[in-house]
Amino acid sequence: MSKTKAFELVVVEAAQCSICERMRDRQAVLGPLNGTITPKAMFIAEAPGRNGADRTRIPFHGDISGNNFEALLDSIGLARNQIFITNSVLCSPRKPGGANDRPTRSEIRNCSSFLQRQIELIDPPVIATLGAVALDAIRLIEAHTFTLRDHAARILEWNGRLLVPLYHPSPQVIITVRNLDQQKRDYRMLLRAIENLGLC
Ligand code: SF4
Repeated sequence: MSKTKAFELVVVEAAQCSICERMRDRQAVLGPLNGTITPKAMFIAEAPGRNGADRTRIPFHGDISGNNFEALLDSIGLARNQIFITNSVLCSPRKPGGANDRPTRSEIRNCSSFLQRQIELIDPPVIATLGAVALDAIRLIEAHTFTLRDHAARILEWNGRLLVPLYHPSPQVIITVRNLDQQKRDYRMLLRAIENLGLC
């Protein structure tokens, strides 16, 4: 089966998935708008945001986190058509009032087979996790002991490829933990990982 066909199959299965109780009415954000299936790097974030990907169907687009992410990508000269973006859970988890919520451990576990299949079929040379939830989620695919606090912006090896743990570009993280200038410096390490493989 071709890579394109295999990806289309995952997209169809994800669109039909309703394993997670509170996301039964939500649609998985997975399709051609996630990026190229031959990327220089794959980004894995937490979950589609209510005003971003869940509304626009484009990961990290349409909300403040998306604006920050696009600024960070621009800062290292990467374009969306050179990358693939996905999430630890493909559907948007919400609080009872409708606000964004963190995915639970069981929701991340439910969706880990989709994440594993995306990684296996896209086979990105470099993965950048965005935030602690994503870094934790990939442990279900291959164990590691990395933490965001100790390993942020370091070039690591994981699952037969390079891994660069990065912070999430949400306004809360940028205001309280890692500002945009600091994150731009982190992204230079991601660019270095891509360059080290001769991909730029
Ligand atoms: S988050 Fe993943 S496992 Fe849960 S319903 Fe959506 S596609 Fe299925």
